[in-house]
Amino acid sequence: MNQTEQTPVPSISLAQARELDRAYYLQVWGDRPICIVGGEGCHLIDSDGNRLLDMIGGIAVNVLGHGHPRLAGAIAAQAASMIHCSNYYYNPSQALLAARLAGLSEATGMRGARVFIGNSGAEANEGALKLARGFFYRQGKPRAKVVSALHSFHGRTLATAAATGQSKYSAPFAPLPAGFVHVPFNDLEALRAAVDDDTCAVLLEPIQGESGVVPADPRYLREAESLCRRSGARLIIDEIQTGMGRTGSFFACQDSGIRPDILTLAKGLGGGVPIGALIADGETAKGFVIGDHGTTFGGNPLACAAALAVLDVYQEEHLTERAGRVGAMLIDALRRLGEAQPVIAEVRGRGLMIGIKLTRPLAVAVRDSLRDRGFLVGSVGAEVLRLLPPLILPESAIEPFVRDLGDVLGICAASADRQAASNATA
Ligand SMILES: *Cc1c(COP(=O)(O)O)cnc(C)c1O
Repeated sequence: MNQTEQTPVPSISLAQARELDRAYYLQVWGDRPICIVGGEGCHLIDSDGNRLLDMIGGIAVNVLGHGHPRLAGAIAAQAASMIHCSNYYYNPSQALLAARLAGLSEATGMRGARVFIGNSGAEANEGALKLARGFFYRQGKPRAKVVSALHSFHGRTLATAAATGQSKYSAPFAPLPAGFVHVPFNDLEALRAAVDDDTCAVLLEPIQGESGVVPADPRYLREAESLCRRSGARLIIDEIQTGMGRTGSFFACQDSGIRPDILTLAKGLGGGVPIGALIADGETAKGFVIGDHGTTFGGNPLACAAALAVLDVYQEEHLTERAGRVGAMLIDALRRLGEAQPVIAEVRGRGLMIGIKLTRPLAVAVRDSLRDRGFLVGSVGAEVLRLLPPLILPESAIEPFVRDLGDVLGICAASADRQAASNATA
């Protein structure tokens, strides 16, 4: 093992970060209210020294929170030895991670699974789509059509943007890869009408995250499975956000009792280190032969060592069950708040993947006020608040969070009422 030196992490003020971003970064994010300089457990620390409870978890990424000693140690040890060696050679972390993920996929009924490791969710889905097409091509019966759902989200590469059922992600970038068809989510009839003998894949999320935490009806997923069995199309389940135990099962699709042909994972897999994986059952995996797919960085020792450490912590601390249990407590507390607070229309999701649908367009105001009180949450559109906290969230964090949320909802609703009244008199 080589020696490591302690080098301080870069730190600048919010004003400096904002100025540099405006001058040099591609303007895709818009203005951001704070600059995060560090983290500790379930808290992030901003450049003014404020500690913020992280209820969005880097968008379902920071499953072990921030600065987890096991994860940080595994990354440091792997980095001190070797970060990258290319896929010209075997590396232990990649081989071990593939075996772990293949084993975990057996809970969905997948057999003889094979794994490919890339660097992001989009890359995992891109690989899954290529594999589904390759599967039919290799049999000499190419099929082009991919059926996915409206309001889905599958990534931002051209093919995954084409698969995504929201034109805002793809319209400016036409022409898109061909063959992508979208059907209304949870509409069994529409799915039956769309899946045919030219369909190579049906691609679905067990819970649509980016459109506001909308669960698939289990019957819908089972119908998708049986349509795939009938037509031969591959069933690709995008578990990039729902996977890694977040919903209380390692893969959310386990709850519907369906057997996917291909699963994709990313977000939480590396605990924050960029990594994505596709897992294909033994039969489907034959769709790629040597040279059909590849990556320079994917499966590198650093990312794989991080993922192995994450999975070790899951096993030792039963994090999947924990997400189910703590998530159920949080959902209960939010539903009780909803009974007292008419601005809450619905609390939906499973485990620690939660959407709070409001009756009024207050999500952004509520999100911003919660930040001022030390809580980071997400918002989707104008009416949904989104929670994707670390799976290590302590039970003791629930009560103060829900109390402040209740206060903020009341204040924001009253202020919107005053605004409406003054508009009416003006
Ligand atoms: C985030 C996400 C992706 C894309 O992952 P990236 O790592 O951002 O490319 C794809 N599908 C789902 C369901 C996601 O939540």
